[in-house]
Amino acid sequence: MSDPRSILQSVFGFDAFRPGQAGIVDHILDGTPTLCVMPTGAGKSLCYQVPALLLDGPTIVVSPLTALMDDQVAALKANGVAAAAIHSGRMREDNVEDWRRFQAGEIKLLYLSPERLMTGRMLAALEPVAPALFVVDEAHCISKWGASFRPEYEQLAALRTRFPGARLAAFTATADAATREDIAAKLFGGGGEIVVHGFDRPNLFLGVEPKAKARAQLLDYLKDRRDVSGIVYCLSRKDTEAIAEVLVAEGYRALPYHAGLDAAVRRENQEIFMAESAVVMVATIAFGMGIDKPDIRYVVHLAMPGSMEAYYQEIGRAGRDGRPAEAMMFFGLSDARMRRQFIDQDGEDDAHKRREHKRLDALLAYCEATRCRRLALLAYFGETGGKPCGNCDVCVDPPQLVDGTREAQILMSA
Ligand code: ADP
Ligand code: MG
Repeated sequence: MSDPRSILQSVFGFDAFRPGQAGIVDHILDGTPTLCVMPTGAGKSLCYQVPALLLDGPTIVVSPLTALMDDQVAALKANGVAAAAIHSGRMREDNVEDWRRFQAGEIKLLYLSPERLMTGRMLAALEPVAPALFVVDEAHCISKWGASFRPEYEQLAALRTRFPGARLAAFTATADAATREDIAAKLFGGGGEIVVHGFDRPNLFLGVEPKAKARAQLLDYLKDRRDVSGIVYCLSRKDTEAIAEVLVAEGYRALPYHAGLDAAVRRENQEIFMAESAVVMVATIAFGMGIDKPDIRYVVHLAMPGSMEAYYQEIGRAGRDGRPAEAMMFFGLSDARMRRQFIDQDGEDDAHKRREHKRLDALLAYCEATRCRRLALLAYFGETGGKPCGNCDVCVDPPQLVDGTREAQILMSA
């Protein structure tokens, strides 16, 4: 039982690795410092849990939230793996007992917060144990470029020099190119591998249409989609209510959702959306976190989202069941201008504004793509090398590019 595949099957009960997982497991086993960027739900945990069970010596997993640690430990224990989390939310006796077991070599994976790991006492206590692998989960927290910088994470940069014999691996779902480089520079001192995988959602048709009369375009779009459920994202609370009203008048089961609605109304609308099969949720971005309805068939954006990351998250709610679904954006340049103003007015420092403008540029480039839209999306998340998808508006109906050279030739020869 000493290869990744048999651990996967015998311990975790899965038939096969998902795309990307096996390569990351191999990198870690080879001793290559590895940063893995895969979307939420892609299966990052297995990528370090399988090597942890193959390596001599324990693995230390750094995680920012005690709830995340407890979930992971519970799942591992359910599979018969000796795992523990030591954190302030547990009874002191339990922490002491698990620490004793860890020192006795009875724990294969130990979960710690960065602040607990990086105390002088903990580091000194770990030295004789000689951990085989340090895993930094939610590694974007180490970068000021990322969305959720945590100062305690910065200290983790010292692990590389403090434990030169240990392997290092880091995982995140959200890191653009600059953030990825920053994470690798801090944790690995520049070397190592960055593996980006799993951002493609092949069943999702991607489309963008120039916005002229948004409401008429929406009604036209929904005409053939009366018997399925979807989300229509609007920019303002007022819009969600107005659009929902228009749709109701047209005979749709449409409901508004935004943070300004009464909590009871929000809950009710959400419950209806989850339970019924042909509901249009007309919502602001307040709707969606943790929504796991498998049969959402479309996500429409009536206004440009705030960033490529936000867009990806929002359209990712469609087609979770793997069946065909669609992402449609009605895009107008005035939206882009407004987004620019939002950034300029947000009171952050100039470096922050520059980064936000760049992120907006990426989304604009996506909206105006003249080649496969999916390739543009994936390239933004660092996944390159694919072929045109055949499942976006650009692939299906390529824009007619005016061939200036040819026209000029015709003019000259006439
Ligand atoms: P992430 O950390 O990337 O968000 P998780 O590690 O929590 O994702 O995994 C998400 C889900 O996918 C878990 O329920 C996990 O058991 C499952 N999973 C991971 N790898 C596989 C696999 N190779 N085969 C089947 N299920 C898998
Ligand atoms: Mg995870």
